[in-house]
Amino acid sequence: MRALLSIDYTNDFVASDGSLTTGAAGQKIESRLVELTKDFIFKQEFVVFAIDGHETSDLYHPENNLFPPHNIMGTDGRKLYGKLAGIFESNKNKANVYWISKRHYSAFSGTDLFIRLRERQITEVHLTGVCTDICVLHTAVDAYNLGYKIVVHKDAVASFDPAGHDWALRHFKNTLGATIV
Ligand code: ZN
Repeated sequence: MRALLSIDYTNDFVASDGSLTTGAAGQKIESRLVELTKDFIFKQEFVVFAIDGHETSDLYHPENNLFPPHNIMGTDGRKLYGKLAGIFESNKNKANVYWISKRHYSAFSGTDLFIRLRERQITEVHLTGVCTDICVLHTAVDAYNLGYKIVVHKDAVASFDPAGHDWALRHFKNTLGATIV
């Protein structure tokens, strides 16, 4: 069984005026990311939106010293970007569509993702979203450590750091044994 993990494709990470944006690189993957998401939803496969959610009051978060404020709860910056927003809105009540608010890079960190995947006997996770070398990477490492087969869709992941993006794709393949499609 397969699941699609849709990571952090929000205004702050993708829109031109987003606070931590991947810009053109992130915007370029929109149509492929949307196509894949629709495909998984319509095939009744599990689709998880794993989305960064920060609070301005969270003074102890290590990201405070690393990045500008981003994906603050309740802001437009945290809303899904472009056509993905509509796909989520019109399918969010389906049993195979699930939203996770995550506080760390990895979709597994401090969330119930592992349990949700186990319940559905999912053994293969398909990774999409941003940033290739941060949240997608950390999610992939945790998936690897938990024994999942990993598929990374190279036309549906992006980063603001082209060198980091290329390095992460090599790492997925050569170190995590992922299939890159
Ligand atoms: Zn964050």
